Amino acid sequence: MSVISKVSAPFKLAIVGSGPAGFYTAHRLLKEWPNTQIDMFDSLPTPHGLVRFGVAPDHPEVKNVMSTFDRVAEDDRFRFFGNVTIGKNISVKELSNNFDAILLSYGASEDRKMNIPGEDTYGVASARNFVGWYNGHPDYTDFKLPLDDTDTAVVVGQGNVALDIARILLTPIDTLRKTDITEYALETLSKSRVKHVHVVGRRGPVQVSFTSKEVREQMSIPGVQFNADMNFISKEITESQSIISKNRPLKRLMSLLEKGSPTKEADKSWTAKFLRSPVEVLKRANENRVNGIKYEINRLEGPLDARKAIGTGEFETQECGVILTSIGYKSAPIEGIPFDSRQGRVPNYLGKILNGKDELPGMYTAGWLKRGPTGVIVSTMTDAYETADTIVDDLKNGKPMLAPKGDDLTKLFQERQIRPVSYLDWKKIEAAEFAMGEKLGKPREKFCRIQDMLAVL
Ligand SMILES: Cc1cc2nc3c(=O)[nH]c(=O)nc-3n(C[C@H](O)[C@H](O)[C@H](O)COP(=O)(O)OP(=O)(O)OC[C@H]3O[C@@H](n4cnc5c(N)ncnc54)[C@H](O)[C@@H]3O)c2cc1C
Repeated sequence: MSVISKVSAPFKLAIVGSGPAGFYTAHRLLKEWPNTQIDMFDSLPTPHGLVRFGVAPDHPEVKNVMSTFDRVAEDDRFRFFGNVTIGKNISVKELSNNFDAILLSYGASEDRKMNIPGEDTYGVASARNFVGWYNGHPDYTDFKLPLDDTDTAVVVGQGNVALDIARILLTPIDTLRKTDITEYALETLSKSRVKHVHVVGRRGPVQVSFTSKEVREQMSIPGVQFNADMNFISKEITESQSIISKNRPLKRLMSLLEKGSPTKEADKSWTAKFLRSPVEVLKRANENRVNGIKYEINRLEGPLDARKAIGTGEFETQECGVILTSIGYKSAPIEGIPFDSRQGRVPNYLGKILNGKDELPGMYTAGWLKRGPTGVIVSTMTDAYETADTIVDDLKNGKPMLAPKGDDLTKLFQERQIRPVSYLDWKKIEAAEFAMGEKLGKPREKFCRIQDMLAVL
């Protein structure tokens, strides 16, 4: 273990993961502890995590944070090493031989499952796969979904990601063409026959996780009608008035759901379906192909602010050809670091990683890995700033850090034939993406295969 002094050599920090959590921690730290040197690693040659591969293509304004991240990367005290997977190409142990501290901010790369029979049938996929596919994540380029032989899709889950998916499935293709959605996704979506999307949740309208902005957008897609059991919505809103009246965002959301959609003539629809828990995926006869979904019908029990869905023992089936599950992302453990698999996060106190009750010297976490896979970019920023402040406090208080031996990572890269991608390299890749996009009349056309990205360099 070592102790860092303000006047000595710079504090060397390794950041694992280049999403908002990694960048915002770097941003704050470079300001608050100027004698810092940061090396940021990402498994992909492209930085920015879910800002590139999660945020919907028709939400370009959300992606403006990339320019804040660019400014961080322009700092002389910052270096980017893309195309390097920590835990595979380089271990955490090897990193600890090189840095005074390590920040783990590698997000959530796995899915929560429904754990019901038939979940592996062709036509069922997770939100992560579908979103990664339309956003050009190299792991999902070859993903397939039979959108051309069904008119009905079910999205399980009632959060904003579920609405992103419903919107992408129902938005007129010419609107999507103007976004940075991948060309192959456009081609598949242009052949899609899906006209009806059911967005399904276990509980009622008052318990949904959508936010008003997304619901408003969903309600105003041209040619798309909103369906729901409006009597049930009104009844639930009336019964829950005591909590709705104290919560302005919830009040706004409820009034949107109650008002419904202005579209009168529509050949497409989205349905908010409440009180349904999927229990089985139904298959076509003699085919490993989705034919429908079976739900158990629920009722709500418990106090208004903590309503639980209780199965009634009654069931219902619905025909559909595609089922997309949007029930949550999940972080994965990394070798040598404690992991709370029940909560799906690294145990920590204000970002300092804990082993039981003990603090691990020089080990920190931020973002979805720190607090679980929920929250938007702004909440990730707040949380990253909290971790950066913890690091600064530890430095000010002379808390022990790691004890780097000064090993040479460059040697390891050479020995293991790893080709790290610098931020300058990334800007060349990005320039090529902008150029391809310009030819197609869209903001950018993403490279979706790692070899194509590296071929630019
Ligand atoms: C589909 C979707 C849509 C969203 N839309 C919005 C939106 O419109 N507005 C909004 O505010 N928020 C949105 N969010 C939330 C937002 O994306 C998150 O709050 C934020 O990205 C979390 O940041 P993070 O840095 O913790 O994780 P991530 O953004 O996931 O970044 C993690 C990074 O770590 C890298 N990595 C993973 N494993 C390793 C490893 N072993 N070694 C090296 N690198 C690794 C990954 O490649 C990735 O770049 C959305 C989320 C999703 C899933």
